[in-house]
Amino acid sequence: MLISPQSLLDNLRSDVRAMSAYHVPDASGLIKLDAMENPYELPAELKQQLAAHLAEVALNRYPVPTYSGLQNALKTYANIPDGFATILGNGSDELIHLLSMALSKTPAENHHERPVILAPAPSFVMYRASALLNHVQYVEVDLVETDNGFQLDPMAMVMAIEEHRPALVYLPFPNNPTGAQFDRADMVAVIEAAHQRQAFVVIDEAYQPFASYTWMNDLAQFENLLVMRTVSKLGLAGVRLGYMVGRSDVIGELDKVRPPYNINVLTEAAVTFILQHSEVLEQQARQIRSTRTELMTALRAMHGLHVFDSDANFVLVRFPDVDAAFEGLKARGVLVKNMTRVHPMLRYCLRLTVGSVEENQNLIDAIRTLV
Ligand SMILES: *Cc1c(COP(=O)(O)O)cnc(C)c1O
Repeated sequence: MLISPQSLLDNLRSDVRAMSAYHVPDASGLIKLDAMENPYELPAELKQQLAAHLAEVALNRYPVPTYSGLQNALKTYANIPDGFATILGNGSDELIHLLSMALSKTPAENHHERPVILAPAPSFVMYRASALLNHVQYVEVDLVETDNGFQLDPMAMVMAIEEHRPALVYLPFPNNPTGAQFDRADMVAVIEAAHQRQAFVVIDEAYQPFASYTWMNDLAQFENLLVMRTVSKLGLAGVRLGYMVGRSDVIGELDKVRPPYNINVLTEAAVTFILQHSEVLEQQARQIRSTRTELMTALRAMHGLHVFDSDANFVLVRFPDVDAAFEGLKARGVLVKNMTRVHPMLRYCLRLTVGSVEENQNLIDAIRTLV
């Protein structure tokens, strides 16, 4: 042995070594309501057609990196307006990384400062992780708790844009982990302040299938806007496909950072095929929206819980004794996400994914025995 394992690891970035890995808890044997997955599978007949379709895919060939078939399918499915371009990611997680990478100028080319990404807090954890991994400064502006759930503090956001001059602002709509859509007027105030300072705004519409509004048709109005989507929450979390729409000059530059074959041929074929039958997924999303309402009504009838508004496929709920509720649910076979130590504003909160009718009933029955 010529080198010690320690000196090998010393080659790695110290901030990487100080990080903790993204933890995915073991859900075996449990009702899995911790990750915003669609509980429904594709109908058996469609699965068979899909299998036959995938059997024809040439696995010995690299993908064709323009992905034009998939691009066209997405354009039709998502009503992407003419004149705008789309970049594909291996999940929107990859697009978030590509954005950080593309704007991680050295201090020398950025007025001797680190570039800045700004986002509300609490929000999606990947914004911060990808910024820090790319040496981009990450600035958070706290949300405010209102009668309509957690909302933007538009004044604080605008002031932070003035102070920190971010290159990019994330606006998750609806927000994860809080669930509600932000008020449109507040969003516009932030988009306009960012526009004045030549900053991009990425509206992350991961939960669009369950929301009541999309910003896709606002792209023409705000030239600094990018709209990011994913098929994950729609019901295809396993295939890993995200996409982002914006001005073609901007997308053209970002596309240079994308690994050319990032979407594998099976993902490409599967999503292109399934989007020809998108009414199946849309029907499932409708079902999830209506059971979300039923779940929220049942929880709001229980004493001592605070149920936040949701436009997504999960509900944030504040419990009197959150750790006991989390462990009690697990003991009753239901895995949810404990948010209490994630952010001070999420103290006492669990995030509950809306499951199937039966899973929701199990969840409700379990909570009833606990409160
Ligand atoms: C789940 C989620 C994503 C990431 O989804 P992918 O599976 O990587 O496409 C992006 N943004 C938000 C807010 C999410 O909750």
